[in-house]
Amino acid sequence: MDCIFCKIAAGEAPATVVYEDSEVMAFKDIAPVAPLHILVIPKRHIESLAAATPQDQALLGRLLLLAKQVAADGGAERGFRTVINTGRGSGQAVLHLHLHVIAGRRMGWPP
Ligand code: 5GP
Ligand code: ZN
Repeated sequence: MDCIFCKIAAGEAPATVVYEDSEVMAFKDIAPVAPLHILVIPKRHIESLAAATPQDQALLGRLLLLAKQVAADGGAERGFRTVINTGRGSGQAVLHLHLHVIAGRRMGWPP
């Protein structure tokens, strides 16, 4: 399988890793849209949130808690945005589940 995030998770492709354990990883986005832009992924390949199952419940919780941690470690004291694109129609370009953690500039809503 030719998945760039699987390669990063396996240490076979370079990334600026800010957190890693046996299950999850966080690294800087290669094309940041804000001063802080971290991607949080499961190491195991899950194509998208739509492909997650009840067996992934604990792993999904870990991803959210890691998002909180990398935001705090990255100095996002004024708040941060988390984004999960799911499917091509949403703009998901990399088909390996990932959470964007974005902070450090003014962000309105709707974006
Ligand atoms: P998506 O549109 O799938 O939600 O977001 C994919 C994100 O992955 C984009 O923000 C893009 O900049 C980032 N990205 C794509 N390829 C790489 C890569 O090889 N390394 C890193 N660090 N980020 C990547
Ligand atoms: Zn993958």
